[in-house]
Amino acid sequence: MTFAIHGLNVSRGVAIGRAVLVASSRVDVAHYFVQPHEVEAEINRVRVGRNAVIDEIHRLQETITQMGPKEAPHELGALLDVHLMLLQDDDLVGGVKHWITERLYNAEWAVTTQLEVIARQFDEMEDEYLRERKADLEQIVERVLRAMKDKGSPVVSPQRAARKPQQQDLLLDDTVDVPLILIAHDLSPADMLQFKQSVFAGFITDVGGKTSHTAIVARSMDIPAVVGARLASQLVRQDDWVIIDGDAGVVIVDPSPIILAEYGFKQRQRELERGRLQRLLHTPSVTLDGERVELLANIEMPEDALAAVKAGAVGVGLFRSEFLFMGRQGRLPGEEEQYQAYKRAVEGMQGMPVTIRTVDVGADKPLDDSVRDAAHLNPALGLRAIRWSLADPAMFLTQLRAILRAAAHGKVQLLVPMLAHAREIRQTLAHLAQARTTLDNRGVAYGPVKLGAMIEIPAAALSLRLFLKHFDFLSIGTNDLIQYTLAIDRADESVAHLYDPLHPAVLRLVADTIAECRAQGKGVSVCGEMAGDVGLTRLLLGLGLRSFSMHPAQILAVKLEILRADTIKLAPWAQRVRDAEDPELEMAGN
Ligand code: PEP
Ligand code: MG
Repeated sequence: MTFAIHGLNVSRGVAIGRAVLVASSRVDVAHYFVQPHEVEAEINRVRVGRNAVIDEIHRLQETITQMGPKEAPHELGALLDVHLMLLQDDDLVGGVKHWITERLYNAEWAVTTQLEVIARQFDEMEDEYLRERKADLEQIVERVLRAMKDKGSPVVSPQRAARKPQQQDLLLDDTVDVPLILIAHDLSPADMLQFKQSVFAGFITDVGGKTSHTAIVARSMDIPAVVGARLASQLVRQDDWVIIDGDAGVVIVDPSPIILAEYGFKQRQRELERGRLQRLLHTPSVTLDGERVELLANIEMPEDALAAVKAGAVGVGLFRSEFLFMGRQGRLPGEEEQYQAYKRAVEGMQGMPVTIRTVDVGADKPLDDSVRDAAHLNPALGLRAIRWSLADPAMFLTQLRAILRAAAHGKVQLLVPMLAHAREIRQTLAHLAQARTTLDNRGVAYGPVKLGAMIEIPAAALSLRLFLKHFDFLSIGTNDLIQYTLAIDRADESVAHLYDPLHPAVLRLVADTIAECRAQGKGVSVCGEMAGDVGLTRLLLGLGLRSFSMHPAQILAVKLEILRADTIKLAPWAQRVRDAEDPELEMAGN
């Protein structure tokens, strides 16, 4: 039966495919695709894990029979029989094989997927006793997974985890070819990174706001996504057909043929639109009145530089370096590893500038899933970004040295997130000086860097003079600036309706920062999601912004807006919008 789930539209476009529910199993497992020639080995890993648990149960049964009924009650023996029966159940064994052979899931993913399929069947049972056997099933699956781990799981490199099946991997069977749509209760930015170059055609999560980092990574992948879709991961079943309407923020489950045809049409329309935008690739980004506008890219990994160049970016305005630090079970990248990564990004940009932001972990970007900061009640207001760096000087100095060294290979700008206090600025500058001294003493080559600060805390936007005294340029992080100005958790879908880039307070802070930088002849750009929102391009141009940094996939659409704009005409209108009681209403009047 067709039904729709409403969420937040965070990444545009239409995706049609089969649902892949990422297990909400209590055991955290890796999800990646294997090569067809690895299928047998994967099935064997499951077999070995399962046999280990069966042997364990047999041993327990023997011990029980040697004990008297007092020490080992009858129920215990009966329970072990149930566990054995479940382990040998055809549905479990056959289902796991199916996911590995037909979908090329790795063994652990296949096991947890099948667990979900069977668990649902248990949920629907009338008989209470049988329904309660779900807990036993979960227990034995956890034991199998643990046994597989003990017997040695293959080490999964991020590249492999994110590997796109190559043409030659695709079996002729179209079950492998069919687009897959990832559905999860929540995905951490580290999970998203794993899936970044994967085969998924779209994402749906139950939780998350428009500028949550999950949404940001989905946009950077340029695939349709809906977040905050509440119960999606419970309502949609494994392998259901689903449509993501990323423009409307709607998920359609089990669509009828008519709906499928309609969305198929929309999908083709969007492809045509993209094709038309491609023609602007080499057109200089200049307004009708001759104002040059710099279009920069936001990237998460050095390899994203390729997409930035392909989209016609004239540099990287924000390299979110924290993605190099995530999902590594606490093992942080050392100086050499970071240096190589930054150097790859710099070289990838072929002489164009790369703005590397120092690590911004914390809040909705934990280093690791296992260390999600539950202990702190308000992580967004806690030890995040520069606060985290200053609290761990050895880590911060390592990163600063790596960035300075990468600057020997091309134009590098260093950007510091979440500054608010003069003391933090002084400490940051002192660390930078110390990093340079260490490199001098070691005789290691490094290059000059321009120094920038992010304006993303209202306190910073209200202390611009302090910032402009110490920094060469400012970059407005509107995602956090809105979050902190309006006291709205950007990752919380329940307050997403209050997350408003056009709130007069936000507009004033953004407008004043642009104006002050221009007055002092300092560079200013916007690198938050506002920069890539075509609905806001004209307003930002009118407020005097000439440098926008966004996901590569948004660059051409924003360029089109720029080519059609006349900043002389836009300026008085933008001032009116800035000063209006209801800026949205004023915007509509233009
Ligand atoms: C921002 O806050 O606008 C920003 C660009 O940084 P991030 O989204 O990584 O917090
Ligand atoms: Mg930010």
